[in-house]
Amino acid sequence: MKPSKDSSSRGGRLRGKLSFGLGDRLRSAFSRGGADVDWDDLEETLIGADLGVAATQEVLDSVRASLGRSKDADPHDALRSALLGVLGNADRALALEPPGTSVGVPIVVVGVNGVGKTTSVGKLARMLVAEGYGVVLAAADTFRAAAADQLETWGTRAGVAVVRSDRVGGDPGAVAFEAGERARESGADVVLVDTAGRLHNKRDLMDELGKILRVASRVRPPAEVLLVLDATTGQNGLAQARVFTEVAGVTGVILAKLDGSARGGIVIAIERELGIPVKFVGLGERADDFAPFDPEAFVDGLLA
Ligand code: GDP
Repeated sequence: MKPSKDSSSRGGRLRGKLSFGLGDRLRSAFSRGGADVDWDDLEETLIGADLGVAATQEVLDSVRASLGRSKDADPHDALRSALLGVLGNADRALALEPPGTSVGVPIVVVGVNGVGKTTSVGKLARMLVAEGYGVVLAAADTFRAAAADQLETWGTRAGVAVVRSDRVGGDPGAVAFEAGERARESGADVVLVDTAGRLHNKRDLMDELGKILRVASRVRPPAEVLLVLDATTGQNGLAQARVFTEVAGVTGVILAKLDGSARGGIVIAIERELGIPVKFVGLGERADDFAPFDPEAFVDGLLA
């Protein structure tokens, strides 16, 4: 799926919404004028923004190299390029065919309870519908009736069918399978599967996610396995993320609650340490508070 006109206007929304308040700290690191930078201050600021040690060093090296090449280089511009450089050119588009050309392709959404998973599934459904996709939602978190209710509310708002289990603790694989069948009957392009996020132990999680992925794949192999992370948990979220990437073959990250985080650098840490692109960000609790991740808007937010 290529970013549509609609999603590039969401890039504009991202630009307006993201401000991490690093600007003042950075202006102080650069206040000596010209290429004379307070490197300790700059390093502390980047670490404080949750970039992580490795990415911070890479950014500092890149800024030093730019300033070393030209006496007239502007440190602010050098930093902007360095941050864009560490983010790289990952493919952040969903691996979907255009609307109307495939049927029942699963997108499985995983993550620990409370990170914003169900909300993100609802927002993504709405975005896909706006782009012309037919969507069926699968409430495969069968242990929490409230999660299925919440998903139904999102489904009703987006005008899409929601398949849920008729009993608490029902088989999540069966829900994913039935949603696939429903998509086939109605010709819907995508099945968005909301999974359970109890991280009691890795073995349970592995078994359950493995089963959902196998069952979902019986109709079509998943186009994406999206991991939802909570931006406000910072570096702690990375440990969680590693477990899921080992278990579920994650293809992209949805970073929720970026609106509530003063430490947006976590995007960079996630991408560097997991090698998985951030594809979407959550910017609030409302349906519209969701956007494809746009590196330039994000870096401008970091530097604002
Ligand atoms: P789940 O348990 O992972 O499915 O999490 P939920 O989707 O139920 O979300 C948990 C809480 O986080 C709810 O109160 C949501 O409204 C809130 N939430 C989800 N996404 C965002 C976001 O992007 N920004 C903010 N500020 N809150 C969010």
